[in-house]
Amino acid sequence: MKIQDGCSVRFWTDLWHPKGRLIDLAGEIGTQKLGIGRSARICDVFVDGEWRFRRCRDHFLQDLVHDIRELPLILTANVSDGVLWRDGDDTYSSRFNSKNTWSNIRKKKDQVMWSRLIWFQQGVPRFAFITWLAVRDRLSTGHRTAQWGQAQYCLYCGEPDETRDHLFFACPYTFTLWLKVAGNLFGKDPDPDWDTTITRLLTGHYDRLTFILLRLVLQVTIYYIWRERNERLHNNVSKPVEHIARLVDKTIRNRIMSTRYYLRPRLQGRRTIAAELVRRATLFYAEFKSFKDAQDYVGDFREIRGSVGTLWKSQNADFYFLSEVAEMPGLMDGCAQAESMVPPIEGRVRELWEPIEVS
Ligand SMILES: [Zn+2]
Repeated sequence: MKIQDGCSVRFWTDLWHPKGRLIDLAGEIGTQKLGIGRSARICDVFVDGEWRFRRCRDHFLQDLVHDIRELPLILTANVSDGVLWRDGDDTYSSRFNSKNTWSNIRKKKDQVMWSRLIWFQQGVPRFAFITWLAVRDRLSTGHRTAQWGQAQYCLYCGEPDETRDHLFFACPYTFTLWLKVAGNLFGKDPDPDWDTTITRLLTGHYDRLTFILLRLVLQVTIYYIWRERNERLHNNVSKPVEHIARLVDKTIRNRIMSTRYYLRPRLQGRRTIAAELVRRATLFYAEFKSFKDAQDYVGDFREIRGSVGTLWKSQNADFYFLSEVAEMPGLMDGCAQAESMVPPIEGRVRELWEPIEVS
């Protein structure tokens, strides 16, 4: 509390002294020994610049009284006391800051190496959460439930010991999926070993987009593997691996299209243009009701800007966006050049080719 006239700060129960709440230090007995009522306010005890304490023999209370007298205090009449928020260990502010407050009350631990695999701006909480559980090996796999007397074999391949490492991605089924969806985003073949995968993610040198994609593909794959595993366990239905691969692929594609990371300076041009062109190509297609024509134009776009074609092609059922992206050399390079090569198109279509604003 910030003391002004001292008329609303409770002597015993408010936090105004650096040592802490006085009632916690002196105990209920202190109120009697010092002759100060439990609900007394500062202005009742500090009168005309003097503390009014009853003398007492208790050494602990004598020390406390000493500490109280040591704290410089001047009351300002007719100015209300204020509430202060703890900002840091010893700093207070009149403004409430949720971040600092949270930081003050939480238990701090060292940042773990893998945190950036889990939490990143373009991530999705539900995928991040499952991945967090997987990284900490806290998913209720058969291996863990066996310790509670509930054994569970791998629902994909029948392996008796369903461990985290088996599911991600040593199991033949899940590794097939992992190969399909990760393509060569890693710069080499994906590995079935959990530790190797995590180490590669943490220590490899990837450009920004690749690293975003790698983390998304890891999280989304873990999520769908775990979901499919539970579907098999509880509902007795199973999907073929191609189906899951398509789900992973589509989820990531949707995430990329909806995320705004491409508005950042380094990535802005190409991604924004790609998204916008896909939208315009779709309009164009709708207007002329001619798939052939639209396809030809999109074909032109594709030659000029690889990613547009990719996004367009990605509407085909058997197309894997991620593996295509993985094969694009230099992902984000040359976008300025590409931009200058947009050809003008005649007639009504021209409206669809207004310059795209990149903000
Ligand atoms: Zn298995």
